[in-house]
Amino acid sequence: MALIVQKYGGTSVANPERIKNVARRIARFKAQGHQIVVVVSAMSGETNKLIALAREMQAQPDPRELDAVVSTGEQVTTGLLAMGLKAIGVDARSYTGGQVKVLTDNTFTKARILSIDEENIRRDLDAGKVVIVAGFQGVDADGNITTLGRGGSDTSGVALAAALKADECQIYTDVDGVYTTDPRVVPEAKKLDTITFEEMLEMASLGSKVLQIRSVEFAGKYKVKLRVLSSFEDEGEGTLITVEEDKNMEQPIISGIAFNRDEAKLTMLGVPDTPGIAYRILGSIADANIDVDMIIQNIGHDGTTDFSFTVNRGEYAKAQAILEKVKAELGAREIVGDNKICKVSAVGVGMRSHPGVASKMFKALGDEGINIQMISTSEIKISVVLDEKYLELAVRVLHRTFGLDQ
Ligand code: ADP
Ligand code: ASP
Ligand code: MG
Repeated sequence: MALIVQKYGGTSVANPERIKNVARRIARFKAQGHQIVVVVSAMSGETNKLIALAREMQAQPDPRELDAVVSTGEQVTTGLLAMGLKAIGVDARSYTGGQVKVLTDNTFTKARILSIDEENIRRDLDAGKVVIVAGFQGVDADGNITTLGRGGSDTSGVALAAALKADECQIYTDVDGVYTTDPRVVPEAKKLDTITFEEMLEMASLGSKVLQIRSVEFAGKYKVKLRVLSSFEDEGEGTLITVEEDKNMEQPIISGIAFNRDEAKLTMLGVPDTPGIAYRILGSIADANIDVDMIIQNIGHDGTTDFSFTVNRGEYAKAQAILEKVKAELGAREIVGDNKICKVSAVGVGMRSHPGVASKMFKALGDEGINIQMISTSEIKISVVLDEKYLELAVRVLHRTFGLDQ
C-alpha cells in the first residue's frame, strides 16, 4: 500500500464528464489498495473568469478580496469530484485549504506555504476515504484566505506530498510528461523520461508552465518523488523529476528549450556613471515589489552609461512610472521601453562540460536573421531576449540546432 498525492489541473477537470473520468481513475488506484490524496485546480478558464470579474469592480483589485474571489474556483471542483467519487461508490471528503489547514504567510496573491496540518487528512485516510483538497490556496495566521500564484495547485500538491511523506506526487495534466519544449509550439518536441530537478527548476523559471517553479523547489528540498503524467491516457510512465543525473546515459548537452512571452524591457540612457547608480535605479524598482530579471549595464563613455533590465510585462507600466521619477533625480537623459519582447532559453546540465553552446546558439539565431537584444547565462542555461515576433521561429530553430527532435 502506498500513499499517493495526485494533482489534477484545470483541463483535466474542465467539465463534469472529465471530472467523472478523474473519479474513475482515482477509483482504480483506490482499488489497488493505495491511500489517495487528491489536489484539484479550478475548472479550466475559471480562474481567468474570476480575475476578470474582480477587475470589473476595481482596476487594481484589492489583493485580499481578489484572493477571496479567485480561491472559489478550486472549491467548486473539490465538491464536484467528491460527488463524482461517491456516485461510483468511493467514499471521499472535500476540503478547502483553510479547512485542512494549509497555513501560509500573508502575501496575498503569491503567498508561501508555511505548514500543513495532517490531522484531518490522516483521520479520513485511515477511515478509507479519498481526501480531496482545493489547490492554489491556504489561510494566513489571521484566517484570511490566500492564494499561491498562478499555477499554484502544483505547489499545493507537492507541499501536501512533502507534509504527508507520500510515496509519490503525481501531477496529471493535458500532456503526457515534460517535453524538450512546449509541444504546442514545436510538434516535434520529444517527451523526456526523466529530467533533473536542476533542469526542471530552470525550465519552470524560464517559462515552461508545465510545473509551477515553487512546486519544483519544494520537491527538491523535501525529496518528493515527483512525476508529470497525462490524465487523458491510461498508459505511460510520464516524466520523473530526478535528483541524480543518469550516469549510465550519454547526457544530451541541451535538455530543453524554454520561453516566456511575458517580458518587457526598460532602458535608462545617459545615466551619470558614478558608484551607487545600479542601486538607485533597481532599489526603487525592488521597493515597489517588482521582480527584475535580466540586467545589463554598458561600459561608460563621457561620464555616462546606459542601463537596461527586464520585468514581467504586467508590471511594465508601473516600472516605467518609477523610472521617470528616478530619471529626474539622477539627471539621466532618456527612458526607452519595449513590451513586445520575449525570452528564449536553452537549458541543460551537459552545458557544464561542453564549451561552445552559446556560440552555436547565437549562430543559429543569426543565420535566421534574428537579432539578439540581451543575453544572460548561468552554469546550465543561456537566455536571449528577442523581438516577440521571432518567438516561435527561434524556439523551433534552437530545438533543431541542438538535435532535440531526434
Ligand atoms: P494544468 O492546467 O494541468 O496545470 P498547464 O496548462 O498549467 O496545465 O501546464 C501544461 C501545459 O504546459 C501544456 O499543455 C503545455 O502546453 C505547456 N508546456 C510548456 N512547456 C512545456 C514542456 N516543456 N513540456 C510539457 N508541457 C509544456
Ligand atoms: N487555478 C489556478 C490557476 O489557474 C491554479 C492552478 O491551476 O494551478 O492559476
Ligand atoms: Mg498548471
